[in-house]
Amino acid sequence: MSLTDSPLYQDSIAQLEESASIMGLDPNIMERLRFPKRALQVAVPIRLDDGTVKTFQGYRVQHNMTLGPGKGGIRFHPGVDLSETAALAMLMTFKCALVGLPLGGAKGGVCVDPRTLSRQELQALTRRYTTEINTFIGPAIDVPAPDIGTDGQTMAWLLDTYSQLKGHTVPGVVTGKPITIGGSLGRAEATGKGVAFCINFAAQKLGMKIDNNTSVAIHGFGKVGIPAAEDLRDQGARIVAISDVSGAIYNKDGIDVAKAIKWTRAGRYLNEMEGVEHISNEDLFALDVDILIPAAIDGVITKDNAHVVKAKLIAEGANGPLTKEAIDIVSKNGAFLIPDILCNAGGVIVSYFEWVQGLQNFFWNLDEINSKLHGILKDAFDNVYNTSVEFKVDMKKAAFIAAFRRLERAMRYRGLFPG
Ligand code: GLU
Repeated sequence: MSLTDSPLYQDSIAQLEESASIMGLDPNIMERLRFPKRALQVAVPIRLDDGTVKTFQGYRVQHNMTLGPGKGGIRFHPGVDLSETAALAMLMTFKCALVGLPLGGAKGGVCVDPRTLSRQELQALTRRYTTEINTFIGPAIDVPAPDIGTDGQTMAWLLDTYSQLKGHTVPGVVTGKPITIGGSLGRAEATGKGVAFCINFAAQKLGMKIDNNTSVAIHGFGKVGIPAAEDLRDQGARIVAISDVSGAIYNKDGIDVAKAIKWTRAGRYLNEMEGVEHISNEDLFALDVDILIPAAIDGVITKDNAHVVKAKLIAEGANGPLTKEAIDIVSKNGAFLIPDILCNAGGVIVSYFEWVQGLQNFFWNLDEINSKLHGILKDAFDNVYNTSVEFKVDMKKAAFIAAFRRLERAMRYRGLFPG
């Protein structure tokens, strides 16, 4: 597969080109953003518990570093390939630019189903992958973080391996690490919290109240879906459906979120839960709810199922959950969409806070973090909303236009080397 072949890459480029043409972006700027700056593909051989050796494919892609070091997660998932990683790196460039971070866009991953590996095998995989990409990352070069299939423990192994190679501890090489080794308060919940903040900003614009009459369906009950569910439940909303890879559960009066979290954190699948109504993931998208949060993976709502979506507010918790065609359909049907590079930016924003705190060795309290997160997201939301009014476009196109504006200015100031 080439760098640009994946559906996500093709779809993202089509969206970027559309926004670029609406705003009249200099074609020379678009030309430079069409391809990642650099991409590394590595073999990751590990010895499995049964003594055999298995080689996995790993990647790290840096899309654009005009605004600062690369930033973006590491994904362990069977769908990972070079081109999908490149597309996700590109989205990180736009996400960081949109919310005003001094960071570029990057992404990494290994094509593996982490659930099939033991803890020891996962550790070996992470350490070997880190070793293979170690010259490509660093606090001033490119700073990884968790993504699908990775967590604080993965980041701790990455930090340790990188530090072993350097001969001293380098906390700033990674964000999303456990608090005891330099992680930030609030990072684990930041993406989901940011989704909930954005939903509140949107509700205000739409004249919609978040209360017991507000029904919410969440596709993907993990690092993003869980904190978003908790936050919205605490505001009084009814979380009527949630899902994982095994299927979805539904209760029109509201799911017991705490019970579902306990169930999921014990490593169990939702389709094994008793005493609840089971529906499919596809049924979840079609529910007559006020708010739909696709918070699992890209490409789940396409031209084939977008017409079944009834939610008035769609919050893209995942990266790229709706394809370009799907966004056009739901927008035409009157839904208000909060685009991924805004909606799920809470994660990278608090990653930025973690990176800054680590570089200064001075740590902030949770209130400071959450109020700074709220402030940055509010400004970014208003910027995207005003841009959508200015150009008479949906929020997705507006988000890309707003991000382009910042990137374009920065790229012009820095110029094109060698000139
Ligand atoms: N993986 C997350 C994302 O897609 C977080 C990236 C980060 O914190 O660097 O935005």
